[in-house]
Amino acid sequence: MIEYIYTAFPDDNSYKKYLFNLRWNKHIICPFCSSIKNTKTRSNFRFHCNVCNTNYSLTANTVMHDTKVELRKWLITIYFYLHDEQLSYRKLSKVLKVNKNTAFRMITSLQNLFSKERLTILEIAG
Ligand SMILES: [Zn+2]
Repeated sequence: MIEYIYTAFPDDNSYKKYLFNLRWNKHIICPFCSSIKNTKTRSNFRFHCNVCNTNYSLTANTVMHDTKVELRKWLITIYFYLHDEQLSYRKLSKVLKVNKNTAFRMITSLQNLFSKERLTILEIAG
């Protein structure tokens, strides 16, 4: 799977392009006020909302918000998180070649995200 991801997305920019289309397709929506009046900034994959006057990135308000880790490594982490019940931060640290603290924070972020999602689904289900 890791080889597949690195082949499909030879660099992090190619994965960012994919994520951009997945998240916004043609219309960039501000993650803070939901406005569609946004402009791209000179920085790669950074945007400016012309309504709430906020600058934000492709990953704003996602589990990858403000991450320093390559986004392809997040994709790999999400894959392992969903498919490997034996996933530990030590194992993830070796797979991603990141330090153990980083791997621990990534797994914890996903655990928090998915426990919130589960609560929401349970609330909707009544
Ligand atoms: Zn806004």
